[in-house]
Amino acid sequence: MKVLKFGGTSVGSSKNINNVINILENYSKKDTVVCVVSAVGGITDKLLLAGNQAKNKDIGYEDAFNTIKEIHFNIINELNPDKSAAIIDYVDSKLSELKSLLDGIYLINELSPKTSDKLVSFGELLSSFIIAETMKNRGLSADRKNSQELMITNSNFTKAEVNYAITNANIKGYFKSVSQQITILPGFVSMSVAGEQTTLGRGGSDFTAAIVAAALQVEQLEIWTDVSGMFTTNPKLVKQAYPIEKISYQEAMELSHFGAKVLYPPTVQPVLNLNIPIHIKNTLEPDAVGTIISNDKTGSTQAVKGISNISNIALLTLQGSGMVGIPGFSRRLFEILSQEKINIIMITQASSEHSICLGIDEKEAEIAKLSIDTAFENEIALHKIDPIIIEKDLSIIALVGDSMKNHQGISGKMFSSLGKNNINIRAIAQGASEKNISAVIAESDVKKALNTLHEQFFETKTKQLNVFITGVGNVGEKLVEQIKQQRKYLKENLKINLRIVGLSNSRRMLFDEEGIDLKNWKILLNEGEVASLEGFFESTKAMNLRNSIFVDVTANRDVADFYAKYLRQSIGVVACNKIACSSNYENYKLLKDLSLKYNAPYLFETNVGAGLPIIDTLNNLIASGDKVTSIHAVLSGSLNFVFNNFNDTTKFYDVVKQAAAEGYTEPDPRIDLSGVDVARKILILARESGIEMNLEDIENTPFLSESGMKSDSVDDFYQTLISDEALYQSLYASAKAKGCQLKYVAQFNNGKASVSLQEIPSDHPFYNLEGKDNIVMFYTQRYKEQPMIIKGAGAGADVTASGLFADIIRVGNN
Ligand code: ADP
Ligand code: ASP
Ligand code: MG
Repeated sequence: MKVLKFGGTSVGSSKNINNVINILENYSKKDTVVCVVSAVGGITDKLLLAGNQAKNKDIGYEDAFNTIKEIHFNIINELNPDKSAAIIDYVDSKLSELKSLLDGIYLINELSPKTSDKLVSFGELLSSFIIAETMKNRGLSADRKNSQELMITNSNFTKAEVNYAITNANIKGYFKSVSQQITILPGFVSMSVAGEQTTLGRGGSDFTAAIVAAALQVEQLEIWTDVSGMFTTNPKLVKQAYPIEKISYQEAMELSHFGAKVLYPPTVQPVLNLNIPIHIKNTLEPDAVGTIISNDKTGSTQAVKGISNISNIALLTLQGSGMVGIPGFSRRLFEILSQEKINIIMITQASSEHSICLGIDEKEAEIAKLSIDTAFENEIALHKIDPIIIEKDLSIIALVGDSMKNHQGISGKMFSSLGKNNINIRAIAQGASEKNISAVIAESDVKKALNTLHEQFFETKTKQLNVFITGVGNVGEKLVEQIKQQRKYLKENLKINLRIVGLSNSRRMLFDEEGIDLKNWKILLNEGEVASLEGFFESTKAMNLRNSIFVDVTANRDVADFYAKYLRQSIGVVACNKIACSSNYENYKLLKDLSLKYNAPYLFETNVGAGLPIIDTLNNLIASGDKVTSIHAVLSGSLNFVFNNFNDTTKFYDVVKQAAAEGYTEPDPRIDLSGVDVARKILILARESGIEMNLEDIENTPFLSESGMKSDSVDDFYQTLISDEALYQSLYASAKAKGCQLKYVAQFNNGKASVSLQEIPSDHPFYNLEGKDNIVMFYTQRYKEQPMIIKGAGAGADVTASGLFADIIRVGNN
């Protein structure tokens, strides 16, 4: 004999019911079959909705009723195109009963638990009847038995307790002499000893099937549902979740108790004692392997088997100095809750005994507070304890695994990865058996937490990075293209799953939690919402994704003003924008401190020398204990380009125009030619060397004409380059006469920094610096005589984009 159970989705449409009938037909060729069915998917909720509307004098209950009717009639007609009349007759009479019940609730304004059970029982009674009759119509040897005649319970309505002695005898008695090959039983429904309709609790059809399987001592119980087994975590919240092939009874119980809805928690108990395995299968994909729940521990090396979550949790805290060392507080607390029939889902108590924290269902929080505060009235009046504190909108997440106890460091890993992602933990519980480690967190963090933990324990090989890019001009566009090209490589070789989830230019912004389609990003961005810096920040924060990185590819002050906000959300910041790092020292320091405090990297390698690894090298020198004594550098790719191309056969104006056209200068070329850009860079290097310095402290000797320095606009500035050509030619002539090259040099020496145009002799390392190259020479305590030199292209969209890319990957490797 076989026992199978089919859930709501499995019997939720005529198409799915046809699948179910096929499965049953095949099984029945070899064996007698018992099939437990749920109500048609969604019907239990709709019945409760109608009941509550009626109770609240909302005439809308009639619409809800009509929807229920329509859903059933459609299924009947689709399954039995020619022979629906007899089924409809019966269903119609049941529906009239249902309608009278709802009308009654409407009339008296009351929906007691007893009536509620009567109401929801219609769901399973109807579905089981329709399926059995359809099978008969198709010539199968099938019949329905109303399980209310078998499942006998107490009168604890909405979640009645089974009387096993009577129930087992009923089941054995009935199945001893069944003549049909397939018996359809409604799940969930039962009857009290006193003859009232009861139910086994929401999701209880699984339990019905387990009770039948145990009573008949079958070899295996099959639970057919809408997913291919028990997953490593809730597949609706974590895309990467996958079915667990084998799991122990205890693990399955823990996972289901902590929210894995795929199995109703009490289901395991009856079959566990008899060692009957449960096989979870997918009606929509019958060939998938599914999950076997049993005592078989072979082949299981995974310490963490699954992660689950329960939503709508309230945390109740009882605390007060009067509790310390005085016995009986906990006992009284638990007694009060037990009297109120409030289920405690989680308990934590600090060893100081100064406080006890309980996780309970949010719906029961108010009544819990009231009854506890009343019971401890005296102690509260005497200030021995505080009134109960209640926090809501919480959720419990739990790691489950039988062999977690044999592995060190699991809770450490769990909490550090949550911490890194700015997920605040309100309470923690870990049983001594260590089959379960649970934590209470904000409901709004659940999705991020499950994904973070899943990545940590089940996808150790890949790390997802979620990138939000602001500014997709010249450099930004290159960055997006480079990421698009490298995604596959990063995944395969560095195990980094890099996704762009937010994009913005000055006009539009675009978000996609699943990763923006990089083939069409320009079109998608154009169709995006109107851009704003605040809006971009708010959306990034609301998406609340793990390993989030904000990338600033603008040169905009307002964007830089947002870094602190991002860091405070533990969102990393990667910027080629130099403004923040070269702003006043307090701001620079604040951002550095926030980065440390919130464990969110703040990286700006491209602020100096575009893609050259200058800041990273400097940081490594300092971290390893070296000390910078001086820095000599040519740090302006654009100025180097200008002075390498400017001579007595070219015009200064033309060369500067060309540098701008090729994207080597800042959008405003005055920032480069006035020396401000280079001053910012040496300032950043000085600060990264550990010096507290501001831009005003840097000596800047300009080479531009006075009119050039004072020009009001970029156009005016270009005009001065034409009119002051003679001045620039004289600079060139002077250098040439001495056999020197003109280079714009930044220096940092003994805590002082300067920038100026210099005539460089032919034996100097700067002399042969070509094109738009940069060079930096670090003299340190360890590099005393020969400096450490970094040299290469220091400007250009491609190399700047690759420098940003390198910073993003540094975050990934963090
Ligand atoms: P049925 O109606 O077949 O009893 P349920 O809706 O009760 O189905 O349970 C199946 C659902 O449980 C899945 O669709 C899935 O969304 C949810 N679920 C939550 N956690 C898990 C998990 N760890 N593994 C599988 N499914 C889960
Ligand atoms: N129909 C019931 C419910 O939705 C029982 C079940 O489907 O298992 O809770
Ligand atoms: Mg279920």
